[in-house]
Amino acid sequence: MRILVSGASVAGPVLAYWLTRYGFSVTVVERAPALRKTGGHAVDLYRPAVDISEKMGVLPRVEERATGTNRMTLCREGARRPVRVDLSKIFSATSDRHVEVMRDDLSEIYYDATRDDVEYVFDDSITAISPDGEVRFENAAPRRFDLVVGADGLHSNVRRLVFGDESRFSSFIGAYLGVLTLPNTSGLDGELLMHVGVGRTAGMYGARHLGDARVLFLFRSERELDYHHRDVPRQKELLRGAFDGLHADVDRWLDELDRTPAFYFDSITQLRMDTWSRGRVTLVGDAGYCPGPAVGGSTSLAIVGAYVLAGELARAGCDHERAFPAYERAMAEHVRGSRAVALSAAKTLIPTSRLGVSGLAQGARLISALPAGPSRALLRLTTKSARLYNSMTIDDYPPRPHQWAGSASWATPEAASGAGSG
Ligand SMILES: Cc1cc2nc3c(=O)[nH]c(=O)nc-3n(C[C@H](O)[C@H](O)[C@H](O)COP(=O)(O)OP(=O)(O)OC[C@H]3O[C@@H](n4cnc5c(N)ncnc54)[C@H](O)[C@@H]3O)c2cc1C
Repeated sequence: MRILVSGASVAGPVLAYWLTRYGFSVTVVERAPALRKTGGHAVDLYRPAVDISEKMGVLPRVEERATGTNRMTLCREGARRPVRVDLSKIFSATSDRHVEVMRDDLSEIYYDATRDDVEYVFDDSITAISPDGEVRFENAAPRRFDLVVGADGLHSNVRRLVFGDESRFSSFIGAYLGVLTLPNTSGLDGELLMHVGVGRTAGMYGARHLGDARVLFLFRSERELDYHHRDVPRQKELLRGAFDGLHADVDRWLDELDRTPAFYFDSITQLRMDTWSRGRVTLVGDAGYCPGPAVGGSTSLAIVGAYVLAGELARAGCDHERAFPAYERAMAEHVRGSRAVALSAAKTLIPTSRLGVSGLAQGARLISALPAGPSRALLRLTTKSARLYNSMTIDDYPPRPHQWAGSASWATPEAASGAGSG
């Protein structure tokens, strides 16, 4: 059985790994000309995602590349003294296994674990998928696949082709985010320097192996802002406006906007689809159920989703009509829970009042000052959904390849149409 996956970031390579383990023949098409190595941001692997990475044998590499950010200096707008926070306590109160790693490092690790068994096609994109499995591309010749999976992120191309315009499924949660890469002039290593004001939060972090630093900006906006997604100067202007006067550090970071080699700006939206499978096509990770970038643990959700989808296909003997609904059922509660996590994290991280700003600082100080047990209990009491990812259980799926194994190779539509569908 031949499966085409669109997107080679996190969900795509993890899915490809497990599919090939179960004997499927996998092609991954990625729009970028190569794996992304610059820019990017830190992402969180919570317990189930750490467990899956361990099963894949890549955990030592993931841990080796961990950002090591374990301290936070939190400065409240208008307050004289910063609060020092032990971030490792906060992470361990959220999940008993946690690794923070740069997303680009993570995709490289998953890619390396799959590159020998998976056909990767860079610099291309799907333009059409017909119900009988013929897929057309921008560059490559048409080919036939048994199944197609969109792992192409929040602004998924596969979702648009199969389900329609993104606006039908995205729900704005009243906030924006920006990321910028800049020189690590403060020499931050293992530390997050965060400035928080009413409706706006900016944090800079660095790690020795990065050679530079990243700033994450989060700000609230009641209404959706007016800009084009390709109009970078306008996005920078909006960011400057939102953070004007927060702190001299933040002004210095904003000064780098004109020089930065990597800049990202987007609204924080949740995807809400009743179903993310149609016919022979399904979606995984942010493409299907992004709870909101930077606030909902979406990387862990993407990894769990990829693992479950591959497992359900194997369990159903590659009958997608049974496997896709089983995958959606297995993920439904996790997806709902992660949306709740995202909304509550956004509320905490971007406080709407001065009281909220103080609450964030005091809460973080208290949790970091307490021993692990009480800090976990406190976090559970104050944030219902805080331990969602810790409570996710993942099934074991059949360990050995099955008879539907095929060889991954380029094939003309004529040749490929004879491929067994299991
Ligand atoms: C600024 C920011 C900060 C974040 N912070 C965190 C965090 O702190 N913690 C956390 O857990 N998560 C965080 N996230 C979210 C995290 O990055 C995603 O949840 C995670 O990367 C999801 O992986 P994915 O593989 O589903 O999608 P993505 O990582 O978005 O990957 C999609 C892939 O598809 C490719 N693609 C796009 N269009 C096409 C096409 N037409 N054809 C082929 N390929 C295509 C893209 O190039 C990309 O490689 C953050 C996201 C952003 C944007």
